[in-house]
Amino acid sequence: MKLTSPRPKSYAGHLVAELPGPDRKRTPAEYRYHLTYRNPHPTEDGCMMVWEVLGGRLPYQIACERTAKAVRWHCTCADAVYREDEPQHRCKHVRGLIDTLDAVSVVPACVG
Ligand SMILES: [Zn+2]
Repeated sequence: MKLTSPRPKSYAGHLVAELPGPDRKRTPAEYRYHLTYRNPHPTEDGCMMVWEVLGGRLPYQIACERTAKAVRWHCTCADAVYREDEPQHRCKHVRGLIDTLDAVSVVPACVG
């Protein structure tokens, strides 16, 4: 019998950040960000990039969207979903990603 394995994903980027962990005490934990999509035309409106977040209770996805007025961040975690109506709120995953991107100067235009 021949075993088949899923096709490995290819990532264009990989970042690591230490964030408050998923346990009750919020013990610092390592979160890993994998860039799974990057728009070849990042100055146009629409999805600029998508990241997969690992290290929490569940894997999450973060999307960065450019509109005519602003750059918006979307995360699939419960915190971001429940507080979606608060435009200034950013979950810890998005804050960690923005801080890390800023630190490595990957896409400064996304920090909006
Ligand atoms: Zn989140």
